[in-house]
Amino acid sequence: GRIEATDNKVQAFLALNQEKAPKRAQQIEQEITELEDAEDLPILAGIPAGIKDNICTMGMPTTCGSRILEGYIPPYSATVMKRLHAAGAVPMGKLNMDEFAMGSSTENSAYQITRNPWNLDYVPGGSSGGSAASVAAGQVVFALGSDTGGSIRQPAAYCGVVGLKPTYGLVSRFGLVAYASSLDQIGPLTRNVEDTADVLQAIAGYDEQDSTSADVTVPNYRDALTGDIKGLKIAVAKEYMGEGIDPQVRAVIQKAIDQLAALGAEIEEVSLPHTEYALASYYLIAPAEASSNLARYDGVKYGIRADGAKDLLDMYKKTRSQGFGEEVKRRIMVGTYALSSGYYDAYYLKAQKVRTLIKQDFDKVFEKYDLIVGPTAPTTAFKIGEKTADPLTMYLNDICTIPINLAGLPAISIPCGFVDGLPVGLQLIGKAFAESTILQASYAYE
Ligand code: GLN
Repeated sequence: GRIEATDNKVQAFLALNQEKAPKRAQQIEQEITELEDAEDLPILAGIPAGIKDNICTMGMPTTCGSRILEGYIPPYSATVMKRLHAAGAVPMGKLNMDEFAMGSSTENSAYQITRNPWNLDYVPGGSSGGSAASVAAGQVVFALGSDTGGSIRQPAAYCGVVGLKPTYGLVSRFGLVAYASSLDQIGPLTRNVEDTADVLQAIAGYDEQDSTSADVTVPNYRDALTGDIKGLKIAVAKEYMGEGIDPQVRAVIQKAIDQLAALGAEIEEVSLPHTEYALASYYLIAPAEASSNLARYDGVKYGIRADGAKDLLDMYKKTRSQGFGEEVKRRIMVGTYALSSGYYDAYYLKAQKVRTLIKQDFDKVFEKYDLIVGPTAPTTAFKIGEKTADPLTMYLNDICTIPINLAGLPAISIPCGFVDGLPVGLQLIGKAFAESTILQASYAYE
């Protein structure tokens, strides 16, 4: 009912699981009444969920917001979908996104423009804009998104919800349509920290079908929600609080930091000196990996095929010209160029070296501190259409989130205030696999 009442305005859903969702809900209700011990209740029993449209859902369309996958229905489900099923969640449908997760506003979707529920003239952020907007509009209790360079955290910040990017390898990527494989991670968007802990509990853990999955013991995340952060050592990176951050956003973030201090955390300023090279490094590595990953859309195996081709090569060209949008083509060209012989060392290899330096910046700070805090994004949500003409200003929006993906670390965005009626997100970054510490501090703050 809520989806029906609001989605003509918000436009978060690309597909609704209309037939199966009510049946699944009934089935779970039945199972619950038959339970003898309430302890046996699966962690997400009966909870309505929204799924970003780059997560493969057997029997439900999976378009990645792209024309090239129009009508594609995967013959299998992603590991996270199997885990949500086991946990009793009810998938309500597929949520809008920037095409192949390339973007920061969801305006790059080939299908529709999702709007920010706080103000319909503004973007919800991206690329998981459908996921953030749907949770903010109360259409679903949680949504899954994916984060390659900020795509869970930035839309969560813009829509005033909680969004967590887990440590690289904690959540299986099997069945997540690849954008940049060494950076992509699936994570939850929810309305509060407790829900994030529960959804993470359901989806985290080793999966033999993902070769980069980490074989670690998954802790009980609820155990971290004590409300106590006395003595926790929190660093504020000066590079995330300086030039380029909107002064009003900075003031809201400073207030949140003061509150963490009032709760007993020890706050000190640190430096992450290679931050200024993160964007340049990301915009070589991510397009390079994307150009390789997107080679599979050839008009043969998946989605659409262009008519009227005179031979095989012509069919590839026509299909890809018609099927991919502007931003995706731009990334494929940049990535292919960066990987081409003669340029590989100058661009791709150099970018990988910078990536190591960025990771070492974090390693050094985490020798002494438990968390790093700062803004999730330099501004609040911007107006629809405001940044579409200039890709570079759009890229600059991810300056606070991208370094974390390059380093493979976990980070959350939680709501911490407003500027002119639009939400601001506080980012908390943790050590690898220290999601519990992030949740502990977020819960205490919330
Ligand atoms: N906005 C960034 C990009 O376009 C990040 C996207 C993401 O995290 N998927 O690449």
